[in-house]
Amino acid sequence: AARTVAGPTTADTHCPYCALQCAMSLAAEPDRTVTVAPRQFPTNRGGLCQKGWTSAAVLGAPDRLTTPLLRGTDGELHPASWDEALDVVARSVVGIQQTHGRDAVAVFGGGGLTNEKAYALGKFARTVLRTANIDYNGRFCMASAAAGANRAFGVDRGLPFPLTDLAGADAVLLLGSNLAETMPPSVQHLTGVRSRGGLVVVDPRRSATAALTGEPHDVPAAGGAGPVGDQGVHVQPVPGTDLVVLLALLHVVVTEGLLDMEFVTARTTGFGDVRRSVAAWWPERAETVCGVPAERLRHVARLLAAASPARGGAGAYVLTGRGVEQSTQGTATVTAAINLALALGLPGRRGSGYGAVTGQGNGQGGREHGQKADQLPGYRSITDPAARAHVAAVWGVAPASIPGPGRPAVELLQSLGVRGAGADTEDGRPRALLVHGSNLVVSAPDAQRVEAKLRALDLLVVCDVVPSETALLADVVLPVTQWAEEEGTMTSLEGRVIRRRQVLAPPGEARSELWVLAELARRLGSTVAFPTEPATVFAELARASAGGVADYSGLSHARLDTDEAAGGPGLFWPVPASDDAAAPHPGTPRLFLDRFGTPDGRARMVAVDHVGPSDDVRADAPVYLVTGRVLQHYQSGAQTRRVPELVRVAAAPFVEMHPLLGARLGIADGERVRLTSSRGHVEAATRWTDRIRPDTVFMPFHWGGAGSVNRVTTDATDPVSGMPEFKVCAVEVRRAERA
Ligand code: SF4
Repeated sequence: AARTVAGPTTADTHCPYCALQCAMSLAAEPDRTVTVAPRQFPTNRGGLCQKGWTSAAVLGAPDRLTTPLLRGTDGELHPASWDEALDVVARSVVGIQQTHGRDAVAVFGGGGLTNEKAYALGKFARTVLRTANIDYNGRFCMASAAAGANRAFGVDRGLPFPLTDLAGADAVLLLGSNLAETMPPSVQHLTGVRSRGGLVVVDPRRSATAALTGEPHDVPAAGGAGPVGDQGVHVQPVPGTDLVVLLALLHVVVTEGLLDMEFVTARTTGFGDVRRSVAAWWPERAETVCGVPAERLRHVARLLAAASPARGGAGAYVLTGRGVEQSTQGTATVTAAINLALALGLPGRRGSGYGAVTGQGNGQGGREHGQKADQLPGYRSITDPAARAHVAAVWGVAPASIPGPGRPAVELLQSLGVRGAGADTEDGRPRALLVHGSNLVVSAPDAQRVEAKLRALDLLVVCDVVPSETALLADVVLPVTQWAEEEGTMTSLEGRVIRRRQVLAPPGEARSELWVLAELARRLGSTVAFPTEPATVFAELARASAGGVADYSGLSHARLDTDEAAGGPGLFWPVPASDDAAAPHPGTPRLFLDRFGTPDGRARMVAVDHVGPSDDVRADAPVYLVTGRVLQHYQSGAQTRRVPELVRVAAAPFVEMHPLLGARLGIADGERVRLTSSRGHVEAATRWTDRIRPDTVFMPFHWGGAGSVNRVTTDATDPVSGMPEFKVCAVEVRRAERA
């Protein structure tokens, strides 16, 4: 808990934003002014980015939600009491479920919720609403990495090793991740590999991270046949062809005999199929598809192989991020990255490995405790009878009463019913949506269609801390607590479980979602217990996770506090309960050192092939659009757009465009353009830069309204993971006034 010293109330906690979970100390004055100071912690080593330094501003945002709001007959949102608001929600839920069935009420969670809230939300959906329809926004960011890792290793923990391990490697292949802008303090862990010339960044843009390779600026923009950088290599493929890059790299590894055959034979299955599948991707053929010169592909494959332990190197890592995962072939791309890593003998070896760089603050923990459509707490499958029985016993319900798997996020949004359509039918289409910690109107693909669906619901309830674009559409808005106003736990991108601590009382009538769910459960006549004290919820979560992949049963708030007070850096799951109280399980910083999490302990290599993006360039949409982040903003921007210091630097969206493309289209630097896809259009001013390919434009996704790039992105999804293809689509680019 927070402690009061002479003067302000202080607490040691972690940043509210990304999955790096930088450590910070907070000091709150009686007037609610909060100051932030960085703390030493392995992932940030005393560093914070601009978002972290300014994070206290959101606590005092002028439009902070402090009272429930109900939409009146005049169509406006009006202040209401908690009793009024919760009664409306409960009455509406009962009515909708009576008419349309249990699945007609859906729940949408978020990767920023604490572990306790994510757990309670999943339990609420399955035991009170008894709806199958619950999923969360992590489906937008981690689903392909999770699907690929689960298939290959039997376990999905973003980084199955501490981030600090990167420091000793000779090579790091970073695919589709702009760490230098999304989580800047993490870059210090790449200092060693850069000094050895081993950083390889795959990105259609020369992002801030790609620039860390030191590659000369005058390298031709289409991938560069010229010299590589003194600290690494930037590989600049055609958008949507990252998979081809990986297939070609593995082709070179196989044909040049750079494999770790001893590792492949002893610790993997499926290599024969994979070897046959990459035979067709010799570098010259790959170059015709991905645009990366064949010699550059060979150079990278040899660089990675030389860094592998089998060839006497200090170690190598293959890391993927959203740039390659948010694709209709995202799982295949992750699988190809894993195949490459396995062929080089990297995973399951100290100092080497494969990992996915999780983005959202609790993107890791958010997918472990049961808010995902197909999973129960402990990262268990909802279709596994033993898992259902175990979790049902913890919840005090019959296993058969737990619904089966629901729709993944995009399908769930697409399935939302339209008011008046089939008014009295039970067709399984949700008519009500309860949203927790997600700004769908800005963050969902094909966002205008999603907005229309939300407007047509019979009931939209949004729990949030500020009036986000999605909250402003709701019938009921419930004001909830945020990071520095609550206790709980988060799980970092490495599976490190850490404490979030309270330093401020909630403002006005804001309440924790734990209280909101308990009150709704009571109003809906549930006899299932919903504790509201975070430590108690965590204790239940730990019991529910026992024996699962993500086993937290040896953890408690008290143990995490004691560990931290003793200078410990948090504990990595799995942390099973120990029979010997004097010898608690120490946690598992590195997974797979002895065996993988598959039934036979071997990693699965799976053959995959390139299909291409769902929305490829063509005559009426001849330019690729890629999307991403800027340093100053986080996700949909609902929080960071309320921080004056950040807005001063990054006030509006923009369209990055190569001068060659600008000249070809007759569009000047700074001119306003309209990007049009078959879904819709978006407008913003251009920024000319040679950091991007001449066939591609880039736009950040942190803004709503006419500047919301997700009005243009496609909601086509990966067939395995359900992840939408945010990262590439085809657009027409014109001057805005001509449009
Ligand atoms: Fe650290 Fe991420 Fe917060 Fe920046 S946003 S301070 S990188 S946790």
